[in-house]
Amino acid sequence: MENCPRCGERRSGLERFCVNCGWDIAANRKNLVGRWLSGGGCLFALLPIPIAILTTPIGGNMFSTGGDGGGTALFGLLLTLPIGAVAFVVGLVLWINNRTK
Ligand SMILES: [Zn+2]
Repeated sequence: MENCPRCGERRSGLERFCVNCGWDIAANRKNLVGRWLSGGGCLFALLPIPIAILTTPIGGNMFSTGGDGGGTALFGLLLTLPIGAVAFVVGLVLWINNRTK
């Protein structure tokens, strides 16, 4: 059972507006999704960087694509960066759109 994020009134989770204060719960959920999407997209876009660091042995070159570096993981950026960036922008638009309402 979730409570109203604004006044703490208990709710069944089905109604769109809080029965106590009239808070738009559905909009609040969209706001939350936007925040998660932008945060998740940001993390996803940069994911190969910690992987590259972690897979690089001590003293190795992180940018080397040979056997001694995590450079191959950095190529993952080519894939994750655009996807993460799109998720980040979509999430940000959802979030900002909701805040200004
Ligand atoms: Zn409320």
